[in-house]
Order: sequence, then structure tokens, then C-alpha cells
Amino acid sequence: MPDLLLLALLLAAVAIGWWLGRRERGKDVFTSQQPSLSRDYFVGLNYLLNEQPDRAIETFVAALEVNSDTIETHITLGNLFRLRGEADRAVKIHQNLLARPSLSAVQSNQVQLELSRDFLHLGLLDRAERLLQTLVRDTHDEDLRESAKRLLVDLFEQEQEWQAALEVAQPTLISRYQDTRRAAAHWLCELAEQDLRSASPALARKRLRQALSIDEHCVRVNWLLAKIEHDTGHYKAEIRILKRIPHQDRDFAPIILEPLRNAYQLLDDENGLETALRELIDLTPFTSAVIMLAETLQRREGNDAAAAFISEQLATAPSLRGVDYLMDLYRQKADTEERNRIDLLKRHTHTLLEARPRHRCRRCGFAGAQLHWRCPSCRSWGTTKPITGIEGE
Ligand SMILES: [Zn+2]
Repeated sequence: MPDLLLLALLLAAVAIGWWLGRRERGKDVFTSQQPSLSRDYFVGLNYLLNEQPDRAIETFVAALEVNSDTIETHITLGNLFRLRGEADRAVKIHQNLLARPSLSAVQSNQVQLELSRDFLHLGLLDRAERLLQTLVRDTHDEDLRESAKRLLVDLFEQEQEWQAALEVAQPTLISRYQDTRRAAAHWLCELAEQDLRSASPALARKRLRQALSIDEHCVRVNWLLAKIEHDTGHYKAEIRILKRIPHQDRDFAPIILEPLRNAYQLLDDENGLETALRELIDLTPFTSAVIMLAETLQRREGNDAAAAFISEQLATAPSLRGVDYLMDLYRQKADTEERNRIDLLKRHTHTLLEARPRHRCRRCGFAGAQLHWRCPSCRSWGTTKPITGIEGE
């Protein structure tokens, strides 16, 4: 049982104990209608201490009358069931509370918010959406409205309804939360990709401009703008846009290498590629760019120049891919015996390079071969980036 959950249950138990104690003090002991209440409480506490939280919660729920003093505790007990993965039981408790005519408007809204969380947990998205839309429309409590809006945004993200998510998040959530700003720029990128698929590049550009105005660091915007230029044969414009990406976020610099080389090749501009690579390395040195620059040197000046350059780079920034590339250069000049030895070594570097992940989420640490704009593990946007350094790109 997680420590946090146990702590929450203990706090709920303390709250119940406090309420029962207050209740008992407030009335004549001899006329008590429910003398077993305190006994139930201690039975519940006993279950809890014996690590039988289900029975503990059940006993607490049974022991407590629902009245204005205990609503909060009932809500918490329902939430505890949800946290334990038993959202269907949480629904029962919260729905039971909602049926009480004595509930104040504020309490009713609070219960509805928790009930919508239960529904979301159970995947009953329609029911959650109806409840949340009503709350956003009707509640007078600003904090509660904001919580409902954040849940609605989660829900629309799950359903990939990007436009609806934007409408809920504008303007309050976007101005208040950096996470929502970053997400909103990506929702617009998702919509722009849909526009591109349905051949509406003008609309896509409009959305991408809007995305950049919300989050100027969103590299996906320039990634897509570059793609639009590439698909229409405007390679110079493509290069200009690609070059903006490392200035937005240096960690993403490795993603521009392949399209950059491709565009310069289509323009038949080897010198342009070399200059661009030198500029990139000055800004943020990383192995893939260094190797690509070495390859241009190799084509122009031969193996020795490339080997000298890469050796110099390895002295300041050691990297597995750099070593692997250097072995390729040595192999071309080697005799048969040396070549066999190098091949043996290359089998090892190859195995190591194949086994490494190429991208990692900076938030949760999820790593994999592919770049995901949204982390498949923690679901956050723009936090998965290329891995650089000794074993990286
Ligand atoms: Zn993550």
C-alpha cells in the first residue's frame, strides 16, 4: 500500500474521530440514538492499522452520518477508493452524496467535480464531459471552475479534440500555466497537420503562426513550416526555417541535420552545407553534426583531413559514434589483417550503438528510438528530446 494513501486514510480517520468526538460531547450520552458509532470508528481504525484499507473505508462510510459537517470526509473517502483504482465504488459514494437535498450549492459542485474525476478514471468520457461542461457554465467558484476546465482539457486531449481543448484553455489556462501554453502550441500543430493532410496549407500556416505566438519555443512549428516549404520545392526557404530550430531550443538541434543535408544536396550546394554545419557546431557542438562535417571534409580533401578533424574533436568531446566513424576511415587504408581487427572492434561499437535509446523525456525519463512530440509515458508535450553526449547523437 503506498505510503501517501495510508497517510491520507489516517488523516481521514483523524477527521472522523474528531467529528465523532465533537458530536458525542454535544449531546446527552444516555439519549444517544447510535451508541455504536464510536465502536464502528475504532473497528475501522483497527482494519486500517492491520492494512485492510478496503474494510476500513467501508466501515468509516457506514459509521458516518451524512450531514454538513461530514460531507468533506465522505468526499475524501470516495476519492480514496478512486486512488485505490476502485472508481466504481467512488462513483457510488459520490452519487449518494449528490442525492442529499441538504447539500449546499458549493458542496454539490465539489461532489460533481469528484464524480467527473471518477468517470474519467473509468473511461466514461461522455458522462464526465456533461458534468464538467455544466460545472464550467454554472459554478460561481473561480477555483472550482478552473479545476473543471483543466479536467475538460485532459478529456479533450484524450479524445484528440484539439480545437475543443483550445476553446476551453483560452484565455485563462493558457495565460496562467506554462504547461498549458506548451500543450496549446502542439494542439495547433496537430490541427495544422490535419490541414496539410486535407491540402489546406494556407490554413495550416495561419494555425502555426498562432502556435508560435502562444509558445515561441515550439520547435514543431518550424519543423512543420520547413516541411511545407520542402514539399513545394522551396529548399532555400526550408533551410532558413530549419536553422531557426536550434535557436528556439538547442536540445532539438540534432533533428535538423538530415533535412538540412537533404535540402543542400537538392540545391547542389556542398559549400553551403559545410558553412551551415560549422555555424551549428559553433552554437551547440554535438556528434552527428561533427561527423557530418567530417564527411564533407572527406569528400573534398580526403580521408586524412577527415581523420585529423575527427580526432581533434574526440579529444575535447569523446563520443562512441565519433570513434566508430574514425574506425571507418582507418579501415579504408588498412591491410587485410588490420581490417579484420577493425571489423571485430566495429561489431562491438555497432552493438553498443544499436542498444542505446536516441530520445529521452526530460520529465519522466522515458527513452526510445523515436521522437514523440508527446511523451507516450507521462503524456507531456515537447519534453522528449534527442540524447546527446558520449553515447548520444
Ligand atoms: Zn515523459
